[in-house]
Amino acid sequence: MSSQTNLPTETDTSGNEGTLTEDTELELEFPWRRPPDRGLDDIGGLSDITEKLRQVVVRPLGPNRTEYDRFGIDVPNLLFEGPPGTGKTYTAEALAGELDYPFLVATPARVQSRFVNESGDQIQRLFREAARLGDQFGLSVVFFDEVDALLPARGRENQHQEDSKIVAEFLSYLERSSENNTLVIAATNRRDELDPAAVRSGRIDRELHFGYPDRETRYSVLKQHLQARPTNLSRTDIQQVAAETEGWSSAKVTSLVDDAARLAVERSSSAVEYRDLITAFEAMEQGTDPG
Ligand code: ADP
Repeated sequence: MSSQTNLPTETDTSGNEGTLTEDTELELEFPWRRPPDRGLDDIGGLSDITEKLRQVVVRPLGPNRTEYDRFGIDVPNLLFEGPPGTGKTYTAEALAGELDYPFLVATPARVQSRFVNESGDQIQRLFREAARLGDQFGLSVVFFDEVDALLPARGRENQHQEDSKIVAEFLSYLERSSENNTLVIAATNRRDELDPAAVRSGRIDRELHFGYPDRETRYSVLKQHLQARPTNLSRTDIQQVAAETEGWSSAKVTSLVDDAARLAVERSSSAVEYRDLITAFEAMEQGTDPG
């Protein structure tokens, strides 16, 4: 792969979205980034999902890529489906980081134009840009968050005819994404509102379900977010917190660690302690601010 050094990084705050600073020949309309410096090993738990992603995406794009090609194995577009806060975006970012190709997060707000008849053009420009980067770097990765808003089931009441045209256009780009070296990862927590044609073979071929984390996964998420911070927590402490957070999403478990760390700093502690987690936990359970 050629260098992505002129792509802004995830933490770039220069505000020059859509332009690839030094190299004007690569002027882009959408905010492409180098993916975060984190991979599938940095995801807490979800081993079934990460193993599937290694099998269907990472290995076919690895050093054996030509061999997979020779055997006619395409990398499928993916649908991440499940409730909010269960790690869909986090996993898409980690997959992009693992692959290390140009990465774009496309939210409905960014893709849908205020003017109905311009949204189709936006989609077209986005996929064209993706194909251009795919050509230059070997692959580009687009994450469509809340894809149900972009690919709503057609034929519903009150649907603008123009919307159906956009869906049809989007579907045809999905069909061609592989030949354009573009990997599409789409996420939804409203799977039933998605146009059924989107998940037909040749468009989005693989669906992965993200559920609420079990105790083991909550333990891994806690450990993952504690590991970069000073703590004196034992394994038993973390296990205890994992047991107490039954029914919480991974996002909520992550917020608990953030809040506990903030409490530790505010009481001038040298490390996050068990009592910080407990105070944060109680505040979250009561819906009050732990500070
Ligand atoms: P979703 O896209 O499903 O709504 P996110 O991926 O945005 O949820 O998750 C919100 C936050 O929760 C992430 O930014 C991340 O910090 C944390 N998180 C979620 N799942 C995991 C996980 N499996 N391992 C580590 N952190 C996670």
